[in-house]
Amino acid sequence: VSISARKPDWMKARFRITDDYRRLKHTLRDLDLVTVCEEAGCPNIFECWADGTATFMINGERCTRACGFCLVDTRHPQPLDAGEPGRVADAVERMDLAHAVVTAVARDDLDDGGAAAFAATVRAIRARRPATAVEVLIPDCKGDPDALATIFDARPDVLNHNLETVARLQRAVRPSASYARSLAVLARAGEAGLTTKSSLIVGLGETVEEIHQALADLAAVGTDIVTVGQYLRPTTHHLPVARWWTPEELAAVAEVGEAMGIGHVEASPLTRSSYHARQAAEAVSEA
Ligand code: SF4
Ligand code: SF4
Repeated sequence: VSISARKPDWMKARFRITDDYRRLKHTLRDLDLVTVCEEAGCPNIFECWADGTATFMINGERCTRACGFCLVDTRHPQPLDAGEPGRVADAVERMDLAHAVVTAVARDDLDDGGAAAFAATVRAIRARRPATAVEVLIPDCKGDPDALATIFDARPDVLNHNLETVARLQRAVRPSASYARSLAVLARAGEAGLTTKSSLIVGLGETVEEIHQALADLAAVGTDIVTVGQYLRPTTHHLPVARWWTPEELAAVAEVGEAMGIGHVEASPLTRSSYHARQAAEAVSEA
């Protein structure tokens, strides 16, 4: 039996399909929208949706990159859909979301990397539901300052950009991205006065010292919120799970990160970038 086939008990989330859950699924189908919650088979979907948090994926379902942990299709991307920002705002209203996360595939085929669509979506949600907090989880837009400024100018409540893994494993895990570029994106967002957030996936072969170094680097660029969660191999074509980190080990990682000055570190096996996103944003805004 390979290590990835033996999923520890703590990786199993509670499964409960409610009428609310079914209603939300129908709303999304009606509006022809895609959520990461469904597409990635996220184990937290019941908890998050019941709690008023969901993650929308805009700008198409095909990515121009091919990260080793990610289930999204790598193919030539579709044209942008000008009606999508308005439909996401509709869904946020109909799902009665307290915290909406908007993410996208990397659109290296577009001059602005898809930045204008992010900005339009933030503004559409704001116009429809001013009380909903909006978090964007953005690609690096190749580090282009103008593209990043387009997103920053829409003033999302949280600007999230994932570092994903430790420095040594960047090339193996996300070949088209870079550790330094991702840190620079976060630094710029912080300089623009935004609340910043990033995420690490663990279980890809990193050591605890390397995780601590990544947290130190995130702290050094002023990252406000960091999430750390266990990698789950989506298919046998993806990178294997190298290690299952225990809940206790990840709780210790969270303590180390907060001691380094990161405002809020959420670390547990089932933590995902947008897991407890509302609570994390509230924790740093109250601090
Ligand atoms: Fe959706 Fe994120 Fe919650 Fe998973 S953790 S269900 S992707 S909001
Ligand atoms: Fe997946 Fe994002 Fe990598 Fe594209 S850039 S393959 S969506 S993780």
